[in-house]
Amino acid sequence: MSTLRKLPPGRIIAATHNPGKVKELGVLLADIGFTPVSAGELGLPEPDETADTFRGNAELKALAAARAANEPALADDSGLACDGLSGAPGIYSARWAGPGKDFRGAMQKVEDGLKAETTDDGEVDRRASFICVLSLAWPDGHVESFEGVVRGQLVFPPRGDRGFGYDPIFVPEGETETFGEMDQDKKHAMSHRAAAFAQLRAFLSA
Ligand code: IMP
Repeated sequence: MSTLRKLPPGRIIAATHNPGKVKELGVLLADIGFTPVSAGELGLPEPDETADTFRGNAELKALAAARAANEPALADDSGLACDGLSGAPGIYSARWAGPGKDFRGAMQKVEDGLKAETTDDGEVDRRASFICVLSLAWPDGHVESFEGVVRGQLVFPPRGDRGFGYDPIFVPEGETETFGEMDQDKKHAMSHRAAAFAQLRAFLSA
């Protein structure tokens, strides 16, 4: 049986070297009393993402930071999983864009992959999910993880220049605009990240 963990408000290690993510965390957790301090600022090493699931990678990053800092740490992992590509690019979502962050090229790879999977009847499976896992780890190895998913359909060519990454090819269920066309406040209220954060916030403020 797992013990119930609590985390008192205060500083929390953000297991990332990305200043944008630390800033976003600060905004999302400020009202419940948590202030992120980045692993980069503390000079903590960045582990390789060697797991084969979003959850595995989020947990290994959170655990590495928690153990190195000897304090609880929070990490995330996210990406696009396409049903018609057996879940690809999945944990390789950032890597498909390469070091130059060429997401036009990455979206083209998704389109080409789906074309190659088209059935003889011309059917293409356009269903996809954006997934975000947030993991909170303690130095003794305890981990709590929260997963948010948004389902949708892939569209080509890409539409809209408001978001980032794969946003221009993803239309969430029940909507007509892509995440790249949508008002970003609307996207942020319905996204996979919002769903994971809602669970994390409920845990932290319980
Ligand atoms: P991470 O920063 O290692 O978790 O990589 C996440 C990658 O997944 C990003 O580089 C994007 O390619 C993709 N991704 C995750 N969330 C989103 C989103 O909300 N919109 C578009 N792409 C996303």
